[in-house]
Formats: sequence, C-alpha cells, structure tokens
Amino acid sequence: AKRQGRNHLHFFKRSEENSQRVDVHLRNHFQQAIDNEKLALYYQPIIDLQSGAIVGAEALMRWQLDDGSFIPPDEFIPMAEATGQIIPASEWAIEQACQDLKLLLEKREHMSVSVNLSALQFSRANFFEQIIETIKTHKLSNENLELELTESILMDDSNHAIKLIERFRNAGVAMSIDDFGTGFSSLSYLKKLPVNKLKIDRAFIQDIVSKSSDEAIVRGILAMARQLNMDVVAEGIETAEQAIRLTELGCGYGQGYYFAKPKPLTELLKDLD
Ligand code: C2E
Ligand code: CA
Ligand code: CA
Ligand code: CA
Repeated sequence: AKRQGRNHLHFFKRSEENSQRVDVHLRNHFQQAIDNEKLALYYQPIIDLQSGAIVGAEALMRWQLDDGSFIPPDEFIPMAEATGQIIPASEWAIEQACQDLKLLLEKREHMSVSVNLSALQFSRANFFEQIIETIKTHKLSNENLELELTESILMDDSNHAIKLIERFRNAGVAMSIDDFGTGFSSLSYLKKLPVNKLKIDRAFIQDIVSKSSDEAIVRGILAMARQLNMDVVAEGIETAEQAIRLTELGCGYGQGYYFAKPKPLTELLKDLD
C-alpha cells in the first residue's frame, strides 16, 4: 500500500495532463484518512539552548497508511491545501493537539505545543473564535498553544492577517513566523507583524559552522529579533557544533534531529519523566 500511495503522490506532483483524475483519487484517499482517523500528530521537542530543557513541542501531521507506513506532510499538505481538505484535517489536528497538551501539562507546568497553520485557515471566518473555543473546551490556557505561520498568510490580505495575529496575541496565544528567511521575507513587513517568535529556517542553520555568510545572516536575525523583543528558534539543528555555535550567538531555542526527531506523544511524555 505504501508503494502505491507514494506513486500516486508523485504522479500528482509531476503529471499535469492527468492531474484531474489523480487529484480525485488522492483526494478520496486522503478524505478516507480524515474520516477514519488515519491522521496522526508527531511531536518534535523544542529545547532551551542554555539549559537543554524541553520547553515545548511542534505538532507535525502524519498520514498513516493501512500497512502502518507514513506519508510525510510535504507529500500531502500541498494537495490538501489545493483541495481545501486542509481545513477539516487541521480542525482535527488542533483538537488532537489540545488533548495531547493536557497530558503534557500534567508532566510539565510550563509547556507549549505549536501547531502549523495554512494560509487557507487564516482567511476563514470565525477562525479566531474557533481556536479560542477549542482551548476553552479543553480547559487549557491560551498561553499553552502556539501557532506557526508562514509568510504566505500575508499574500492574500495582509491587513486582515495582521489584525488576526493581533487578536491572537492580545488573547495570549503565541504566534511565530515559520521558515524565517525563506519566502519574501522583508524587514519592513516584519515590523508590522505582531508575532513574538521567529523560527529560522534550516537552510541557514545547515552550514552555520562552515559558512561565515550563513553565520552572519543568523547573527543579523538574532540582533533584529532582540530589538523587536522576539524569541528565536533555530530549526534543523543536526550536530552538537551547530547547537554550540547557536548558543554562543545567543539564540534562545533550538529544534532538530540532534536533539530529537518528531515522535509519538507517548514517547514525548516519557522524555518528560
Ligand atoms: P515545518 O513546519 O518547517 O516543520 C519542520 C520540518 O523539518 C518537519 O518535517 C521536521 O520533521 C523537519 N525537521 C526537524 N528537524 C530536522 C533536522 O534536524 N533535519 C532535517 N532535515 N529536517 C528536520 P515534516 O514533519 O516532514 O513536515 C514538513 C512540513 O509540512 C512542515 O514544515 C510544515 O510546513 C508542514 N506541516 C506539517 N504538519 C502540518 C500541519 O499540521 N498543518 C500544516 N498546515 N502544515 C503542516
Ligand atoms: Ca513549523
Ligand atoms: Ca519550519
Ligand atoms: Ca517548512
């Protein structure tokens, strides 16, 4: 089943001619996954670089096939965004993340879970109310949920997006810019965005030890974030050297395979023992 699923997914990406037909197949397959709860959330720890403590976790969606294998999000999220299925899938994810957060908070008083948002969700009416309601239903506090946005949310209607981010921030929900440094990042828009956290894209972390230009960029981002009172998470840390360098540069938080790969909730709970 895994092979078959993957072939279809690649087909979806590559074949223009057949995209209609394959789209329908894939869409149905994914719809079944949503309906039959074949989606899962994995969690990747976020580390305080100074202390080495786990301070949060990012929720990452997985699509589990009948043979137990997983299709990674890079292969189905773009499709789900195109079909609109990202909406029900994300509603499920936020609900699940809140349930899981409840269990995490029993182990750690200060713990946050970050959920990735797509631009489509952000433009939906009542999105704010829905999130706040879900947090309430689970008797969580707004401070424990974090939302990760990419710059693409600013493309359609940036005024609407900025107002919405403000509402979340005023309610105490942390908002971060994901994949910072990629996309159309410009410093002028950052000034307008009331986010409180930047996640530096892995592309700048990868060669931070060997490439002085990458180190310079990261230094620049850190200096700017300090001025704007924003926290910074370095993504994709894979080696001790990278972690050490980032700590020296004053980066507050890190995430990456060096610390931990995304894992099921049960494993994350064990890490907190
Ligand atoms: P992202 O939000 O930038 O998530 C980080 C990705 O980097 C994850 O890939 C994670 O497994 C991977 N990663 C973490 N540490 C390392 C490392 O040290 N080295 C390398 N090479 N990779 C690392 P993943 O889980 O495959 O997710 C890919 C993307 O799919 C995410 O990128 C995000 O844009 C999207 N995505 C995942 N879950 C959701 C979701 O629930 N909703 C939405 N809208 N998008 C999601
Ligand atoms: Ca993310
Ligand atoms: Ca990212
Ligand atoms: Ca990404």
